[in-house]
Amino acid sequence: MFDFRSDTVTQPTAAMRNAMATAVVGDDVYGDDPTVNQLESMAAERYGFDAAIFCSSGTQANLLAIMAHCQRGDEYICGQNAHNYRWEGGGAAVLGSVQPQPIANEADGSICLQAIRDNIKPDDAHHARTKLLSLENTIGGKVLSLEYLAQAQALAFEHGLRIHLDGARVFNAAVKLNVDASEITQYFDSASICLSKGLAAPVGSLLLGSDALIRSARRWRKMLGGGMRQAGILAAAGILALDEQVEKLRIDHDNTQYLAQQLLTLPEFTFDLDSVQTNMIFTQYTGKDGKALAAYLRTKDIIISASNAIRFVVHQDITVDAIDLLITEIKHFHTM
Ligand SMILES: *Cc1c(COP(=O)(O)O)cnc(C)c1O
Repeated sequence: MFDFRSDTVTQPTAAMRNAMATAVVGDDVYGDDPTVNQLESMAAERYGFDAAIFCSSGTQANLLAIMAHCQRGDEYICGQNAHNYRWEGGGAAVLGSVQPQPIANEADGSICLQAIRDNIKPDDAHHARTKLLSLENTIGGKVLSLEYLAQAQALAFEHGLRIHLDGARVFNAAVKLNVDASEITQYFDSASICLSKGLAAPVGSLLLGSDALIRSARRWRKMLGGGMRQAGILAAAGILALDEQVEKLRIDHDNTQYLAQQLLTLPEFTFDLDSVQTNMIFTQYTGKDGKALAAYLRTKDIIISASNAIRFVVHQDITVDAIDLLITEIKHFHTM
């Protein structure tokens, strides 16, 4: 099966399976799992934070960040397309009593800095208290520039806001910019990073932040049922994700460019090549019914999202041969 829906479908590498089988583990709720501790301390140090906490998912890591930065009745500013606004079940509002203030994302994925300023509420009983600015990088496969991040950080500082990075795919951004991920995370008070997308670990994200923030996040994680016991089995794969998989994202990006070139030879697909920066292509499909295309491809062991707005995601389990097969089968579908 070649699955183009998401990089969440990646299978753990052979090295990960070995490391998981032999991981030294303990009860992480007691702080006794050496493998979890190793993952947390290595990530904190590498990306420039005091501390880190291993979480079951990126959704949980973002929720812990918002709940640790904000109190009941506070608000966080984020993009209209932000994952932690649109795709996380409204958790910040439901579980944190923290109100989102979404602002339209620009075409490049950024949020207009003046629009952020305009949405910071004055200290007045009518308003929620604006506490946090949350940015996402990559967003829709697009990379925010370091200049923009520096300006956003300055804005946050000027207005007394904390600044959080939803960095589920920050390594894709780092590889694209040819910088270490720490050059991106340096602009943030906290960052969530995902181990189980393009980096191929089976489960897990990390939240990075100050000692005080992570202590608070640990409390919320326990309350939310996220205190895992012998979680070193999972952390062992996470260590390899950070050590061995980051540079390999370059291959995914090259393959994405190849797929984009191939798709552009098909008149039924439209998208802006400039928007293809990392491992994702967001296309409009103007051919026959997108659902019918997806159903046909399924019979050829190819999985795509069943819609006329088709997102193609490239990852380690998508080879050039898989891309060639996809294009051949799409062409075949159009002749049927
Ligand atoms: C996938 C994703 C998340 C959530 O990660 P899960 O592990 O699926 O909960 C958060 N933010 C962004 C930008 C993501 O792409």
